[in-house]
Amino acid sequence: MTIEIAWIFPRLLNTYGDGGNILALVYRCRMRGITTAVHRVDPGAALPRANLIFIGGGQDRSQVVAAEALGRLRTPIREAIVDGSVVLGVCAGYQFLGDYSTFRDGTKVPGLGFLGVATVAGPERFVGNVVAEPNPDLGLGASLVGFENHSGRTDLGSDVDLRPLGTLVQGRGNNGQDGSEGAYKGNVFGTYLHGPVLPNNPALCDLLIARVLRSRGESGVLAPLDDRVESAAAAAYRGRSGRAHQSGAGVGRTDPREDLESRPGG
Ligand code: GLN
Repeated sequence: MTIEIAWIFPRLLNTYGDGGNILALVYRCRMRGITTAVHRVDPGAALPRANLIFIGGGQDRSQVVAAEALGRLRTPIREAIVDGSVVLGVCAGYQFLGDYSTFRDGTKVPGLGFLGVATVAGPERFVGNVVAEPNPDLGLGASLVGFENHSGRTDLGSDVDLRPLGTLVQGRGNNGQDGSEGAYKGNVFGTYLHGPVLPNNPALCDLLIARVLRSRGESGVLAPLDDRVESAAAAAYRGRSGRAHQSGAGVGRTDPREDLESRPGG
C-alpha cells in the first residue's frame, strides 16, 4: 500500500522545523520499502484521502487565520479518523485537536474537538528543551525529547480514553503544573514537542507508521533501522535540557522566529 499523508496548512502551521516530521515519515517508510504520497493541504482545499494527517505549530495569529478553514475540514478529518487514519498535531496543531484555545489578547479559537483538551494562554512563554518518559502503554522505550515554545497551557479533560503522551523529566509540557506532556486518544496524538518531534523520536515515528499499517489490515511490524544519528541527537537534548529552561534563553534559541513568538500575543 501507499501511505497517503495530508499535511494541513504547511505555509501557516510550520514552526521550528515541523516540516521535518513529514521528511521523517517518508524516510522511515522508504527504508522499509513502503511508498508514501504527501499532499499539502492549503486553506480552502478539500481533504485528500489520507492515512496520516499532520498539523504543525504556529504563532497565535496564524492560528486565528487558520481556524475557520480548519473548521471546514472537521467533518472529513473525523471521517478519516473513524476510517483508521492516524493524526499528529504539534503545538498549535495539538491545541487545534482540542476543544479551544484562548490567546493572551483574549481571542478564543475553536478546536476540532478530537482530543478532550483545552488551552488558555498564561503570562509566561514556556521555552526550552523537553525530556519526557513516554506513556508506558505506548511501548516506546526511549524518552521523548524535543523543544517547546508556547504560551498556551493545555489541560487534559476527564475523557477516560484520553491519556498523556508522556511524563516530564525536564520542561513544562502541557501546563507547567501537572507534569504531563502531550495527549493521545486512539490514533490521535498531540504534543508540544518541536525540534522536529519525529526525527528526534524515531520510535514515535514508527509507532505512527505501524498504526497506519495496522489500520489497513497489515501486521505493522517494522524492520529496525540504524538510528545511531537519531540516538545521538536525543542524547544531546537530554544533556542540555536543564540549561535551556533555567536561562529561558541560550540553548535551543536557534530560530529567529522565536523572537516573534516571545512578544506578547505571540
Ligand atoms: N501560539 C501557540 C502558543 O504560543 C502555539 C505555539 C507553537 O505552535 N509553537 O501557545
